[in-house]
This record gives sequence, structure tokens and C-alpha cells, in this order.
Amino acid sequence: MSTVIAIANQKGGVSKTTTAYNFAACLALSGKKVLMVDFDPQASLTTLFGVDQPDELDCTIYDFMMAALEDRPMPEGTLLSQEGVDLIPSNIGFSAMELRLMSAMSRETTLRCVLQDFREQYEYILIDCPPSLGLLTINAFTACDRVLITTTPQFFSIKGLELLFNSIHMAKAKVNAGIEVDGIVLTMYDGRTKMARKITGMTREAFGAIHIYQSMIPKTVKVEEANYRAQSVVKLEPGGRAAQAYLDFCKEYLDGEAV
Ligand code: ADP
Ligand code: MG
Repeated sequence: MSTVIAIANQKGGVSKTTTAYNFAACLALSGKKVLMVDFDPQASLTTLFGVDQPDELDCTIYDFMMAALEDRPMPEGTLLSQEGVDLIPSNIGFSAMELRLMSAMSRETTLRCVLQDFREQYEYILIDCPPSLGLLTINAFTACDRVLITTTPQFFSIKGLELLFNSIHMAKAKVNAGIEVDGIVLTMYDGRTKMARKITGMTREAFGAIHIYQSMIPKTVKVEEANYRAQSVVKLEPGGRAAQAYLDFCKEYLDGEAV
């Protein structure tokens, strides 16, 4: 039986996709069987898997969701795979899904239904959420066991977290009593700036009840380069600071599960 983790934040550009992929790559390195779901029509994660033209893919999360909505068997298409991680890809066509879901009977539970069979085949399923709190993210909150939040040490990032927690709270009350918040991982951290240190301190103060991971992901050009090369930074520069931070984070995550 697997653990389904939604990597979420309604703010864009807070390293959700980058962290989701690098975390998945680290999990795979520690021998875990991992599936990722690109749940964002912008398809950044799909691009990270080396797909130059996501629009040309003939089997995406849209097809899986439609099959679940219409009570048809799941598509047979093979999944993408890279660095030991499998992916259900996405493309811009997935932006039509939100509208399709509006009038559907099972609008909050469609992704949960899609993942049912995959849960038996993988130890971890990571959902890369879109930057909104709309129906797609609600689907992710309904399908997951846990939410991992990424945020950057910037003032407006912290302000938005309250809204995110409200949304998770609603999901817990209405559609998924079992949902838990793993915690917050601070990304694109530049410890050299006073402001980053100050805002990190503010985050710890404001969300004291929420776990904040000790391992913070530094802002480095290597991460950007790894994304550009469609690799994890752990593969691109194994001994580098960012790679070490992701490995540390993964270890911290797994250690936290063991207790
Ligand atoms: P989100 O999924 O939250 O929108 P992304 O993972 O797409 O965020 O990251 C946004 C941008 O920031 C991308 O251009 C990505 O390459 C860059 N980025 C992410 N993490 C880092 C980092 N640790 N250091 C430098 N750049 C980063
Ligand atoms: Mg993203």
C-alpha cells in the first residue's frame, strides 16, 4: 500500500515542481518505487521528464481522469519514466478538466479513483499540484494521505499559507478525514540575505504548530540548470549543495515517517 503525497501551494514559483521531482528522485535512490502525477496543465513536471512537446502526448492525466469520470477502464498507455521514477504526464489540454469536473457527480473524488489501482504498485505517489486552490487541488487533497508544502522565504509567500491551511482544513472536514499535513519545506533559501533569515524565523513563529523541515533547499543556479537539462540536481551535481539538501530532506522525511 502506498503513501500519496500532494505537493501544494497555491502560489506559483515556490519550487513545488522542482522539489517534487528531486524528492522523487531521492526516494528512488533509496530504493523506493515512486510514481508522480503531473496535475498542472502547465506541465512543467512533464517537461522535466524530457518531453519537449507535451501537447503531442497521446496519454495524459486528462485521459485517466476522463476514464474515471465516465466509468470506463483506465487507459493502457505506458507511463513515462526517468531516474527510476514513473510519471503520469500532463499537457495544456488538462486545463479543460476543471470545467468538466464542475458538472460531474464525483467531482472531488475523481483523482482518488484514478489512483486506486496505482496504490498497489507504488510505495510513494507524488502529486505535483497546480498553483491554485480550485477543483484540481481539491482533487489532490481528496486523493492524498499527506500534503507537503513548499514555500520560499518571501513575505507574500508566508501571507498565502493561511489560505492554504484553510483549504486543507476544509478538505479534512468535507472529503478526506484522513488527510495530514507533513509540513513545510523552505526552498530557494539564500541564507546570506538578512531578509531570508528573518522571514524564515517569521514562518517558524507564525506556523509553530506545523512541522518545518530542518533541511532547507538553497537557491542555486545548479537547480535551474538541472531543470533546464531535465534531470534532478542530485544526478547533475551529486556532491553539490542543492543535491545534498534534497538528500538530507529525503532522509529527514523518511526518518519522520519511522517514528
Ligand atoms: P512551482 O512549481 O511552485 O511553480 P517551480 O519548481 O516551477 O515552482 O520553480 C519555479 C522556478 O524557480 C523555476 O524556474 C525553477 O527552475 C526555479 N527554482 C526552483 N527551485 C530552485 C532553487 N532551489 N534554486 C534556484 N532556482 C530554483
Ligand atoms: Mg509547478
